[in-house]
Amino acid sequence: MIPVKAFAAMSATTALQPFQFERRELRPHDVLVEILFSGVCHSDLHQARDEWGGSIYPMVPGHEIVGKVIKVGSHVKKFKAGNLAGVGVMVDSCRECKPCKNFMEQYCAEGMTGTYNNYERDKVTMAQGGYSTQIVCDERWVYHVSGKLNLAGVAPLLCAGITTYSPLKYANVKPGDKVAVAGLGGLGHMAVKFAVAMGAKVTMLSTSPSKENDARKLGAHHFVLSTDKAAMKKHQSHFDVVVDAISGNHDYEHYLKLLDLQGKLLIVGLPKDEPKVNPFELIKNRRSIIGSMIGGTVETQEMLDFCAEKNITADVEIIPMQYINEAYERMLKNDVKYRFVIDMASLK
Ligand code: NAP
Ligand code: ZN
Ligand code: ZN
Repeated sequence: MIPVKAFAAMSATTALQPFQFERRELRPHDVLVEILFSGVCHSDLHQARDEWGGSIYPMVPGHEIVGKVIKVGSHVKKFKAGNLAGVGVMVDSCRECKPCKNFMEQYCAEGMTGTYNNYERDKVTMAQGGYSTQIVCDERWVYHVSGKLNLAGVAPLLCAGITTYSPLKYANVKPGDKVAVAGLGGLGHMAVKFAVAMGAKVTMLSTSPSKENDARKLGAHHFVLSTDKAAMKKHQSHFDVVVDAISGNHDYEHYLKLLDLQGKLLIVGLPKDEPKVNPFELIKNRRSIIGSMIGGTVETQEMLDFCAEKNITADVEIIPMQYINEAYERMLKNDVKYRFVIDMASLK
């Protein structure tokens, strides 16, 4: 077994604390990655605090992982020691169902194996995430990372990046489309960058007036304060696509109303409340609401290659592991610019 240092949530109501556990010995298709950087996703906070229900403890969160391969199993083809590598939100799936056969493993009929807060497919071993010094993962769920990019800025691509890239591609966003992004956090800032790179005219919808300048620096062409009723009314039936990347409870109709003819509301944010939607708002303009979960293994590699080609990374604030509880509090105050990334050297 491989001993690992980590930080873990021991319950829904206690601060994260130092924790040690063991990773499995390498199987023939496994890769051992020394973790250099680990992004902090709002999903880590939702799950550490059991906001979605069913959390299991001790929980080592973290699913935006970048590091260096230090060892590979006997049958590994994709990697060798010394390669840079990324691991995202999943580490396994049934591999047999229709979504798995189509490399959309996140929609596995049996449920994907998340990087943490669930059991491995043996139903016994707890999967533990990236707030740790090393991870062992089957090579199918390990990605190549370009050495040209800033590695700390690459880590958030493994969740915030793919989660926004995938629905924008699915919605076929093309040059000239009017795209709005709601919520300027980790996911939102990546959605802006991707929509701009795809040639769209991008509007940031934010509750934080202080973020206007940053939104423009990220490439947004317009900024609308989403708490300004008159400004929101002016944009009704205006956009082809609205990406909802909001972490807190909110009124979905507020954003649905902004969609033009056959417009799409792409939901990626996962607040704990269940939304209410008026069907009359939905039939107007033949609008649709589309949910989207991360992205499959092939699409994740495609997104990382797209980022290497277009020089896209996340804007990050690098923190030591010991700062994680303050980082969570700041995330709850919408005070993130625009992703905390843990420098794992702080744990060694
Ligand atoms: P984050 O960095 O904390 O950003 C969330 C942003 O949402 C905030 O900065 C704020 O932006 C806005 N916001 C928060 N509460 C709000 C409220 N009550 N009303 C309106 N706006 C509000 O979070 P994140 O890491 O980007 O994650 C966003 C959500 O996506 C989370 O719920 C997360 O669990 C989910 N997620 C889903 C997937 C998936 O596969 N679908 C993957 C990863 C994460 P402004 O200051 O601009 O208003
Ligand atoms: Zn995430
Ligand atoms: Zn499957």
